[in-house]
Amino acid sequence: MTTVPTARTVGFKPGERNIFFHILTACNLACRHCYINPGQHGTATLPLATVRQTLQLFARPEQQTNLILLGGEPTLHPELPAIIRAAKSMRYAVTVDTNGYLFHDLLDQVSARELDYLSFSLDGPDAAVNDPIRGDGVFAVCTENIRRAVDRGFNTSLIYTVSSLNIGHLHRMPALLAELGVRRFFIQVIGLRGNPVLNRPASGEAWQVAPEQWLAIVPEVAVAAARLGIHVIYPKVYLDIEESFQCAGVVADNFFIFPNGRVYRCPLCEDHPIHGHQLEGGRLIRREGLTEERFFPLNIPEGCVMNKLLQPDNIQYHPDHTPIHRISCCLLKQEIVPIS
Ligand code: SF4
Ligand code: SF4
Repeated sequence: MTTVPTARTVGFKPGERNIFFHILTACNLACRHCYINPGQHGTATLPLATVRQTLQLFARPEQQTNLILLGGEPTLHPELPAIIRAAKSMRYAVTVDTNGYLFHDLLDQVSARELDYLSFSLDGPDAAVNDPIRGDGVFAVCTENIRRAVDRGFNTSLIYTVSSLNIGHLHRMPALLAELGVRRFFIQVIGLRGNPVLNRPASGEAWQVAPEQWLAIVPEVAVAAARLGIHVIYPKVYLDIEESFQCAGVVADNFFIFPNGRVYRCPLCEDHPIHGHQLEGGRLIRREGLTEERFFPLNIPEGCVMNKLLQPDNIQYHPDHTPIHRISCCLLKQEIVPIS
């Protein structure tokens, strides 16, 4: 009898902290679905001293704290190796999320021991799918650098942002990941912020996929990847009837930090100046007034209140106007750990 890998919902773990730190917003690419919004997030590249100060502020050596270094493209930061080392000395578990270009010879400047995960973004199983979304030639560069990173012993993961442009090709990813030697697969759902708010795909369709399409495809692909020995994580998105709704802004410890000092608890809010905190003079200041934190406790039948306000098109209703699905917190994940 063959055992089928099964997904479990990863509840928000008490005490676990995730710090998503955008150390700059500059990028060499211009992805069609880029969520970075320089009008809201600034254009600065943070000096090493500021990055260190911020890391120190958020460090909790006694607690599991995951640090995800982001951009823009974080490898464009000339002092990324020093930032990684500073973070490790403060006992963060460090991941770098890259578009695959690995500027400043990152693989020569940092050893596999010094980085917990190197995470690559790719949105298609071949250039024909990926490059119209992320740019000409990107598939070749990214996959070549994944191979180099795997060869050097780095723990690699891959993020695939599912949208109407690429959901039909998701099923081809597990074989590619296994061939590349990638250990972890993050299937992500596109959020309506940054470019996707401004531009629809050329076909005129919506960016987001219908619930039935998501539910028919994503869990099955996740199982297929786990069968190949890959650890898969994907967002829950639609809550089952018996599951209770929880907002990470209330029950979890996530911080999304931008170079202009804005600190959000909810990524859906990032296009709007409603951040709950601001970094000022090396201190984290709680903001007063109408901030994201006022929204988190609101209890609505649709589940996530920011989803209802900012991207309501993914909610469907019964004829009596009750929602067919409640939308989970975008930070609630499903996980499949490979059996072998
Ligand atoms: S690689 Fe990331 S930051 Fe750069 S354009 Fe693409 S989505 Fe935006
Ligand atoms: S996505 Fe929704 S549920 Fe999650 S933190 Fe934001 S407002 Fe709360």
